[in-house]
Amino acid sequence: MSVHRHGGDDCKGACCLRVSGLGVVAEGRTILRSIDLHVHCGQIVALIGPNGAGKSTLFKAILGQQPHTGDIQFERSGGAKTRPLIGYVPQSPAFDRGDPVSVLDLFVSAAGTWPAFLATPKALREKVRGSLARVHGEGLIDQKLGSLSGGELQRVLLALALEPLPHVLMLDEPFSGVDVEGELQLLRLLDELRRRYDLSILLSTHDFSNLADYADKVVLMKETVLKVGAPQEVMDSPEFAAVFHLRLKEEG
Ligand code: ADP
Ligand code: MG
Repeated sequence: MSVHRHGGDDCKGACCLRVSGLGVVAEGRTILRSIDLHVHCGQIVALIGPNGAGKSTLFKAILGQQPHTGDIQFERSGGAKTRPLIGYVPQSPAFDRGDPVSVLDLFVSAAGTWPAFLATPKALREKVRGSLARVHGEGLIDQKLGSLSGGELQRVLLALALEPLPHVLMLDEPFSGVDVEGELQLLRLLDELRRRYDLSILLSTHDFSNLADYADKVVLMKETVLKVGAPQEVMDSPEFAAVFHLRLKEEG
């Protein structure tokens, strides 16, 4: 286990996701440029920036779903370089209250890609229950998606993203549509998962209220990375003020 809380940016010998010089141009417009980013295993890194800053585009580029320039590497302890297995929780889809699809159905529809799921209905149910147990959501297995609270839905999507267990977990605005108690539960869960599985966690958020409690590192971005550091350091920076406060003044 190599947990690098509050480690520096030197990845030598450590387990690390490293993005170097990443750029995205779409429809002739530069969306992202010269993005450099490190996430050590066991770390939670929070990506912040205004709407349209390119956070979701960066996730898609790392996932390989968005054409980009630059380099994405995952380095294991000891120096072996591989393509990382990435778990992804997309910006929350809203399900209709009357939607008849259950949590079990959702897992079964995704199961086509998991050889381990080619089993009897009973074995499959046990496997899904096991996946949900990772997020303390066993009791949700027969609930309809439309009846879940924001926090419960995030936990179910998180359980899906952990199957199979990834090297890197990415969550796009996991706290939007989740109440204060749900957010704290989700944060405790992410903390538990990163410790248990030595996961690298990269998440985007607009909620800065408890960043300092959970994020090992904060990356402020708008088209490119403007500031990287400890949560308070970034929130106290002129770059943060320029992006969030002065913008308001200009607009107001
Ligand atoms: P964020 O998640 O930080 O709000 P996005 O990554 O969704 O930002 O979007 C960044 C910018 O890129 C926005 O201006 C958006 O309109 C634009 N954009 C995203 N995807 C595409 C695309 N495929 N083609 C053109 N523009 C895009
Ligand atoms: Mg987004």
